[in-house]
Amino acid sequence: MKVVVLLGAPGAGKGTQAPLLSGRLGIPVVATGDLFRAAVRDGTPLGLEARRFMDAGQLVPDQITVRLLLDRLARPDAEAGVILDGFPRTGMQAKALDEALADRGAVVCAAVLVDVAAEELVRRMSGRWVCRAAGHPYHEVSSPPRVEGTCDLDGSELYQRTDDRPETIRARLAQQLGALDDVLEHYRTSRVLRTVDGLQPIQDVADAVAAAVNGAGACAD
Ligand SMILES: [Zn+2]
Repeated sequence: MKVVVLLGAPGAGKGTQAPLLSGRLGIPVVATGDLFRAAVRDGTPLGLEARRFMDAGQLVPDQITVRLLLDRLARPDAEAGVILDGFPRTGMQAKALDEALADRGAVVCAAVLVDVAAEELVRRMSGRWVCRAAGHPYHEVSSPPRVEGTCDLDGSELYQRTDDRPETIRARLAQQLGALDDVLEHYRTSRVLRTVDGLQPIQDVADAVAAAVNGAGACAD
């Protein structure tokens, strides 16, 4: 069974790469956020347990997340393996996942990082501007206004929300990258970490991610 962990900072393109890798490897993407929502919606025992923590405004304990994942891995479509997206997010979670998989005779055979430098992530995420009159959205790179600083539709001034300003994004990213570093260190230690240059065109990144997984000896078993 191939258990592949896809890693990347927010904005690195991990969400784009997960379904592409799924198509190439023929195994499903498992996103823990979706698992939670489904379990809570269906009212499964684990879902009810998770919901008690969510209703109390607490983080769902890692053990519950891991049990949800194991249930998912037991389904027929996951027989050949899964791509994990969004888990593990901390070193502790990575350790808990290893232990749970070991009980089933499985391992994470490759952890692939879609690597994009922090300043590039800030640039990608901080390009959003909205107009003062109606909040019409623009993006410096993907959908710029015809006249810089002015809304195409109503001529009002464009401004950046606090959340979209580079300094806000840089601060939030620093926290997220700290947790990601712990996860990377975990997989570096277990020698399954592979790094792919996330600045290439999307299809080239997809090729490199697939090659990283296929080249990982443990994934061939
Ligand atoms: Zn406008």
